[in-house]
Amino acid sequence: MAETTEQASVAPDLPTEFTEIEMRCPPCNAVWSAPVARRVNVRTHPDARLGILLKTIHWTRCPVCKQQRPIDAIFEYFDPDKRLLVQVRPEWEYHAGGGEDWYWTRYEDLVLKYQDVDIRVDVVFGLDQLIEKFLGGEDAVRRAREEWETRQRKERSP
Ligand SMILES: [Zn+2]
Repeated sequence: MAETTEQASVAPDLPTEFTEIEMRCPPCNAVWSAPVARRVNVRTHPDARLGILLKTIHWTRCPVCKQQRPIDAIFEYFDPDKRLLVQVRPEWEYHAGGGEDWYWTRYEDLVLKYQDVDIRVDVVFGLDQLIEKFLGGEDAVRRAREEWETRQRKERSP
């Protein structure tokens, strides 16, 4: 806790962190572990931003029936250049958990968690809210799609 004053103006370095989550496919009862991001630093992992805009982040495939399944994970989006950290929670939670009150409780928890780091924090429910509020909305999604297609074309014709 001591000696943090000198570094107060330096952009904080919160690294990308992954973990594994146990998944189960109800129809075929298969169990496997899938990698999930707990926190993405979009300076070191710019593709995570693309994955969010294209909504390809946090999907996994059942190894048996090959069905795509969404991973219901809470993660943190961190942009060191903007000094912004956004906790992304499942969209359904807002409706099931008590709306505005739920938001403020989660927000206060996050403020406490990062009280010693010089960043702005917020909480959103669902990728749509993150994209709309912080990533530039539909325009950013369109640009991400173009970037992805350009990259695919380059891979096809080296
Ligand atoms: Zn399956």
